[in-house]
Amino acid sequence: MTVALVLFTSDLRLHDHPPLRAALKAADEVVPLFVLDPGIHAAGFDAPNRRAFLADCLRDLDASLRRRGGRLVVRAGAVAREVGAVAAECGATEVHMAAGVTSYAHHREERLRERLGAGGVALRVHETVITAVAPGAVTPVGSDHFAVFTPYARRWDRERLREPLPAPGSVPVPDAVRGLPVPERAEVPGTSPGLPAGGETAGRDRFARWSRSGLSRYADRHDDLAGDGTSRLSPYLHFGALSPVEVVQRAREHGGPGADAFVRQVCWRDFHHQVLAARPEVSVKDYRTRHDRWRGEADAAEDIAAWREGRTGYPVVDAAMRQLSHEGWMHNRARLLVASFLTKTLYVDWRIGARHFLDLLVDGDVVNNQLNWQWVAGTGTDTRPHRVLNPLVQAKRFDPDGAYVRRWVPELSDLEGRAVHEPWRLPADRREALGYPAPLVDLADGLARFKRARGRE
Ligand code: FAD
Repeated sequence: MTVALVLFTSDLRLHDHPPLRAALKAADEVVPLFVLDPGIHAAGFDAPNRRAFLADCLRDLDASLRRRGGRLVVRAGAVAREVGAVAAECGATEVHMAAGVTSYAHHREERLRERLGAGGVALRVHETVITAVAPGAVTPVGSDHFAVFTPYARRWDRERLREPLPAPGSVPVPDAVRGLPVPERAEVPGTSPGLPAGGETAGRDRFARWSRSGLSRYADRHDDLAGDGTSRLSPYLHFGALSPVEVVQRAREHGGPGADAFVRQVCWRDFHHQVLAARPEVSVKDYRTRHDRWRGEADAAEDIAAWREGRTGYPVVDAAMRQLSHEGWMHNRARLLVASFLTKTLYVDWRIGARHFLDLLVDGDVVNNQLNWQWVAGTGTDTRPHRVLNPLVQAKRFDPDGAYVRRWVPELSDLEGRAVHEPWRLPADRREALGYPAPLVDLADGLARFKRARGRE
């Protein structure tokens, strides 16, 4: 009997899973393994919302494997050591896994290669599992990555994607390998009350439903804050419960302007992956420095707390921050405007905002979070790095009737129409009765400070 091992990381699915397919082809039996890595905890990345969603993903994966005659083997500990131990226990000759892009993923791969190599076990790393197009597969002349989205998207669009693989019919797992109980969502304290259910089954279900009902209208609706017309697939893509290759291929089969606009967003995801793969240090350092001397916790503690807690006095900003804590998710337009408010209006370091997002977002990942924050802060790949999103203009444009604000800021729920965006215009007695804070900062003052800081007066 030959045995191969599949190490699952950010690819928690059975459909369109090249490492699993390759392992099943190479060996008679396969060990599907997930290692609960204390390094993720030490790095502060196992936020409760993601830990709970991960538990759902693992349980769903285990159930799907059991329906195919197998099961998921869960271990806990240093990844290279655990994988080496399981490989030795079952006599595996090869280990298959998805390629990652972060420095953490690179180090993990290096340690695995050393450990397994010492035992004569081959490590096979597969591309296009976590992204649709492999980072580095398309590059501009003279550079190892695209620094601007539009030319990247043009090239990305021309790449031929593989056909999505079906889920295997059976997965024979050797009896002898032992694992820990699969974690349960209920064991995780401190999650957001509106957190969605995780797992490949839930993700495929959502994608199927949304493809029927939302995809064709996506181009017109994706910026409508109250309409909530985006796919909400990000956590499933983050954990790999859905394959980006399959999502793009199916959307292209659907066709039309909605599908084109949606595929373009998935392309943004690949774009950020290829930037971070080439420049792993930009998870913490500016991609392009603007020589900012950001305000930090020491000099802006009250402003930062008000922003985090959704009490800045700007209703659309507060609505968005409260959606984040309630759902562990936030609409993209809202992410843009709250990030602009923190970095440009309050002139606070983008890393502080990014950290808060990572503490709560169920889809929070170093690649998309840090690079989107940098994009908004103007230290990233935006070709207009000094643009400032005015929260009032954004509110009137993307929440014209105020429904999004009324949904998330109950103090303002009696205010009708767009008046909800400017409670400071109410007569003093009504304003005081609301129990809602006055604006934290004057927008013109914030803009002037930012312009001064960037030398653009
Ligand atoms: P849809 O509009 O339905 O888009 C489909 C998919 O495309 C998304 O699921 C996502 O995987 C991808 N996508 C869409 N927009 C972007 C984008 N700008 N960058 C990269 N991928 C994109 N996305 C994350 O997945 N994780 C994060 O940690 C994250 N942090 C962000 C922080 C800030 C400050 C900003 C401005 C954006 C961030 N995004 C992040 C990108 C984007 O906001 C979310 O992917 C999107 O809101 C998820 O909702 P959806 O699935 O309904 O998206």
